[in-house]
Amino acid sequence: MPDFDTQSRALKALTLWWEDMGIEDDILPSAKPKLRPGTPAKPTPARDPLQKPQKPAIATPQAAQAAGFGASDGDPEEARKAVANVKTLDELNAAIKAFDGCPLKRTARNTVFARGNPEAAIMIVGEAPGRDEDEQGKPFVGKSGQMLDRMIRASGLNPETDVYFSNVLNWRPAGVNTPSAEEIAVCLPLIERHIALVQPKILVFAGGVSAQALLRATTGIMKLRGRWSEYRFKDADGEVGEHIPAMPIFHPAHLLRRPQEKARAWRDWLEVVKKVEGD
Ligand code: URA
Repeated sequence: MPDFDTQSRALKALTLWWEDMGIEDDILPSAKPKLRPGTPAKPTPARDPLQKPQKPAIATPQAAQAAGFGASDGDPEEARKAVANVKTLDELNAAIKAFDGCPLKRTARNTVFARGNPEAAIMIVGEAPGRDEDEQGKPFVGKSGQMLDRMIRASGLNPETDVYFSNVLNWRPAGVNTPSAEEIAVCLPLIERHIALVQPKILVFAGGVSAQALLRATTGIMKLRGRWSEYRFKDADGEVGEHIPAMPIFHPAHLLRRPQEKARAWRDWLEVVKKVEGD
């Protein structure tokens, strides 16, 4: 029987997660004052008729280059060679830190490698570090990571000991936060080597970028999520080997924007937990 401390921690995690899922919103009156009939809507600032409407900035390779993001998009083959001979996670971490072939590294503060327990059955792979991760040099430590941790705790697992976290990209995409196809392609051999060294029992892809890149899929996350896929380990030459179950789930940042999706994310996560416990 778990002791009182453990029980109350589990209860707290569960309560926080249910609060996250919007349960409070359903049963408590909204804290936001409602507009009374006749309340004027917030005025929209008038536009100067002589001023041309501004075009939205478009992240083209040329614009990125002009902004100093470097001339080369990197070469995936260079990345594969850089990590082909590493045999341990420490060696891999060092090889990735020394790898200069990804242009994102020039604007990032830190190389973000992993956190959690590399011996854990579950490995979660996200998209790319955000601001907090870039500052701390660890994946999933910002708002979305904290929410992921709450979901994991609410399911009875411990994010520090039962899960291992990494990302497809080891460096924060500057400015535009969505990584380009070239940036993903150059970093893909690094995470594939990472997965091959960890040899998790189960992979969880947090978000469409990670699921599509690692499964070589073009299907969107709406269709991929909640269904088991097969991930094939890649050896040092990139040849495919044994396969393991992989579950794509919504990215936690998506859940922060669309809390109504948390119930589906929770169901998908419970599938993962069930599989781990069934083994
Ligand atoms: N989003 C990710 O995909 N990974 C992180 O590490 C943080 C936010």
